[in-house]
Amino acid sequence: MVYSDKTLTCAQCGSEFTFSADDQQYHASRGYQDPKRCPSCRAERRNSQGGGSYGSSYGGGSGGYDRPQRQMYSATCASCGREALVPFQPRSDKPVYCSDCFQPRRTSSW
Ligand SMILES: [Zn+2]
Ligand SMILES: [Zn+2]
Repeated sequence: MVYSDKTLTCAQCGSEFTFSADDQQYHASRGYQDPKRCPSCRAERRNSQGGGSYGSSYGGGSGGYDRPQRQMYSATCASCGREALVPFQPRSDKPVYCSDCFQPRRTSSW
């Protein structure tokens, strides 16, 4: 059987994505069905595994939905060594500062 790229609609976010011929072949060889979600929704799903009761927030389109609280990451302040909470994943090649040390320095040393 010859496969060709297919455009599918994501069951979660409704956007179209390409189900490539290679992927189709892979899925068929494993006996999998066509994917129901786009790659990004699948990745999100994988990330949220074991995250508790995070259901699909499928709603009636009522606006004003509050954003979930930002996830904070714990890191060690590169300046004072205390624990610092930052709203992004700390990277080893970038120093992280706590809120005390993060204040922009004023050039008042002279
Ligand atoms: Zn999607
Ligand atoms: Zn600090």
